[in-house]
Amino acid sequence: MRAVCWNGKFDVKVYDVPEPKILNPHDAIIRITTTAICGSDLHLYDGYIPTMEKGDILGHEFMGEVVEVGSAVRNLSNGDRVVVPFTIACGQCFFCKQQLWSACDNTNPNASMAEKLYGFSGSGLFGYSHMMGGYAGGQAEYVRVPFADVGPAKIPEGLDDEQVLFLSDIFPTGYMAAENCNIRSGDTVAVWGCGPVGQFAIKSAYLLGAERVIAIDNAPGRLRMAAEQGGAATLNFDDEDIFNKLKEMTGGLGPDACIDAVGLEAHGTSIDAIYDRAKTALFLGTDRPHALRQAIHACRKGGTVSIPGVYGAFLDKVPFGAAFAKGLTFKMGQTHVHKYMKPLLSMIENGDIDPSFVITHRLSLDDAPTGYETFKNKEDACIKVVLKP
Ligand SMILES: [Zn+2]
Ligand SMILES: [Zn+2]
Repeated sequence: MRAVCWNGKFDVKVYDVPEPKILNPHDAIIRITTTAICGSDLHLYDGYIPTMEKGDILGHEFMGEVVEVGSAVRNLSNGDRVVVPFTIACGQCFFCKQQLWSACDNTNPNASMAEKLYGFSGSGLFGYSHMMGGYAGGQAEYVRVPFADVGPAKIPEGLDDEQVLFLSDIFPTGYMAAENCNIRSGDTVAVWGCGPVGQFAIKSAYLLGAERVIAIDNAPGRLRMAAEQGGAATLNFDDEDIFNKLKEMTGGLGPDACIDAVGLEAHGTSIDAIYDRAKTALFLGTDRPHALRQAIHACRKGGTVSIPGVYGAFLDKVPFGAAFAKGLTFKMGQTHVHKYMKPLLSMIENGDIDPSFVITHRLSLDDAPTGYETFKNKEDACIKVVLKP
């Protein structure tokens, strides 16, 4: 089959590779019909995430048709059309039972690698390094899905792939980011970063009752989408003093909640070296949390800072004193995708939201290398690339 493979820093290639096989009675094999490139795939592309190996199959946003199920699978059968969460969860452990799906204790066979860096490991992830389980991703013609009874959501007739594909990651991720803001009616929410997750955070904040969302970026196409599709007020950080502007727009108080949908992506240095030295716990900065610093600084007293943006390791010069002085609440982490699949699918069915608005580029799987480059460089006002095998 054809598959998008990591070939080194700034290098992805589409190769012919062996098709996946059922390895466990709880597995299913999915024939991919649509997949996408995620902002966090760029961290792999840029070489920020350690423990990638040449030939690893990328991709954690995918959907398709079930073509084979293991002998223990009860909820799926051949021909079912499904979207698959990017986090892999067992459904049985302490964490899964509390809806903390991305903290599943049973799905990362390489947990010891992540434990060196984080103390404890999160769940396994599709296509996201050996440290996170070494699972082949879904930017391919076929993928093996472990715990097939637990994750995949069946898609009803009448919804096309592009409407439901983003249930795999970015819609739940943006939604959880907004939910973590504890929004009350009348609230103002500021969102740093108008990439795909930022766009869904904006929409979700309104769906959850925010009175006003203020979107911050410097890419004109992204700000335009935030305004036109999301209904956000927009600020370009190249032109505005963000702190003063936010203060002015909120009657001198600051936003009730601030969402950092940027993470380490914009700037940063390689965490490979830190990973190697993690055991000796050198407290060196690895990520450049510029958006996070600004969010903490701008947030009103007693407000919430919600962080869906991905961070890798150690953060330097985070204004913790400001956070303490203002009594801020912090919420963050990998999305508990499983928890959101059904409720958000219902919202799509009801017509409350059509997630396909975020797509700017449609390419064939074979054109994935161009897709990565265009997305990385934000060329051609690129916000979201979907790939068709
Ligand atoms: Zn993602
Ligand atoms: Zn579990």
